[in-house]
Amino acid sequence: MTTTAIQQFNLLMEGKLEPALSGKYFDAINPSNGEVFARIADADDIDVQIAVNAARLGFDHGRWPQMSVAQRGAFLLKIATLIRENAKELADLECASTGKTIKHTTFIDVPTAADTFEFFGNLSGDLFRDEVKSSFPILSNIEHEPVGVVVVIIPWNYPLIMTAWKLAPALLAGNTVVLKPSKVACASVMLLAKIISQVGLPKGVLNIITSSSGQAGQELVSNPEVDMVSFTGGTKTGQEVMVQAAKGVKKLTLELGGKSPNIVFADCDMEAALGGSLSAIFMNQGQMCTAGSRILVEDKIYKEFVDKLVSRAKNLKIGPADDFETEFGPLVSIDHRNSVLKYIEKGKQEGAKLVCGGAIPDLNPKGAYLEPTIFINVRNSMSIAQEEIFGPVLCVIPFTSTDEAIHIANDTKYGLAAMIWSKDLEKANKVARRLRCGTVWINTYGAFLNEVPFGGYKQSGFGRELGLAGLLEYTQLKHIATDQTPSGRSVVTSWF
Ligand code: NDP
Repeated sequence: MTTTAIQQFNLLMEGKLEPALSGKYFDAINPSNGEVFARIADADDIDVQIAVNAARLGFDHGRWPQMSVAQRGAFLLKIATLIRENAKELADLECASTGKTIKHTTFIDVPTAADTFEFFGNLSGDLFRDEVKSSFPILSNIEHEPVGVVVVIIPWNYPLIMTAWKLAPALLAGNTVVLKPSKVACASVMLLAKIISQVGLPKGVLNIITSSSGQAGQELVSNPEVDMVSFTGGTKTGQEVMVQAAKGVKKLTLELGGKSPNIVFADCDMEAALGGSLSAIFMNQGQMCTAGSRILVEDKIYKEFVDKLVSRAKNLKIGPADDFETEFGPLVSIDHRNSVLKYIEKGKQEGAKLVCGGAIPDLNPKGAYLEPTIFINVRNSMSIAQEEIFGPVLCVIPFTSTDEAIHIANDTKYGLAAMIWSKDLEKANKVARRLRCGTVWINTYGAFLNEVPFGGYKQSGFGRELGLAGLLEYTQLKHIATDQTPSGRSVVTSWF
């Protein structure tokens, strides 16, 4: 690990970096070695209230919502520049916080976060207004106005990217924000908070708080001064957030879990399908909402494909996340690894056959390591095929016909993403249209594009991230209707 001294991170409150009122900090643990690498300010309910008040004042009385889109965009562009200037420190901290490999944080997380701020920063103000013609002599101006105070709650698996995906559109639209990263992995976000504190955002526009209490998220969602909640995390937590948000009739977007099917047809490019399938389940040690955790393989190639997949999975280089040679780092924490291990036991008890991994490798015992794991003889009704394990556990299920593959793929409460591997693009596109999920990748995996909306069907949530749809989630619509009757007197003005 290149981060040597233990760093200390404060809250971002009213534009300034401040300790929590209690003066308390909690430890950030590196899952590669179990060591403390940072101390994080530990907010309590009073800090939460201060952050919300600041955002409320910033929205109701500040100049941010009145600024032009271009003026707000200029701040986002500055943030993008500063992320690139601080890329190494951010990549190191994202790696130490999450256990994601340094290769991943250097080449994916940090550049993606910068690109997202830049993408939204360059959008035109024209996207926020429209003129609609109707059969009445009325000029209808449609304005996309900011919602107000937005609470952003993000999980531990992609702290920097999630921050960028939500913060950039929420701010561009003119909202003020209170952002709360997960207590499990938040150091990189707090370095970003430090970086953002340099761009001179008006007071109250952005507040970032961290807390070990496990209560801060709920306190934010239930706070009456909050107008909208943008949440990414587990489906169970999402349900609780929805109940709390409903009490205040708050606008809400939920990006929740997944159990994404990865359909491999016999006519696929086998090398591409093997590589893509490995990435889909073993990148970030499978801790991805879009993990391709159920692989459906056509029976004609089943044996050959599975043998090759297992052999490649067994050869992945497991090790500390900060080593550029490491292909597969630790899970985010020992606690989380224990929850994944329970699923592995459950899979064995349910009758699935373990053909790869499933054990703790012989590495630093204080690290949260786990071998890449593959089960065959899986029935889709088994809990390992139905529940989101959120770890490196792949369930292999054979199929004989396209209809059967589609049936198995859709037989889940989730609907986040799917993958299809076939050289027959007409067939692949037909299948894609029959899958009940928000994203289908054909002959690729993980193409998240700033221009294109991403989000779930069914219990994977609602609302979209990215693209125009993702931007407009952070707005509400106003219709300004101006009478255009040539005489100046419409029917309604002379009714009585
Ligand atoms: P959670 O859903 O518990 O947490 C996600 C975020 O929500 C964190 O910032 C957390 O804060 C916050 N939070 C927790 N409880 C509440 C609440 N009642 N109201 C508002 N906010 C709340 O995810 P975990 O991090 O515990 O992971 C558990 C499971 O969730 C994973 O195993 C996986 O299945 C799923 N998950 C899905 C993700 C996705 O991208 N779709 C990402 C991460 C997890 P804090 O923990 O700091 O208190």
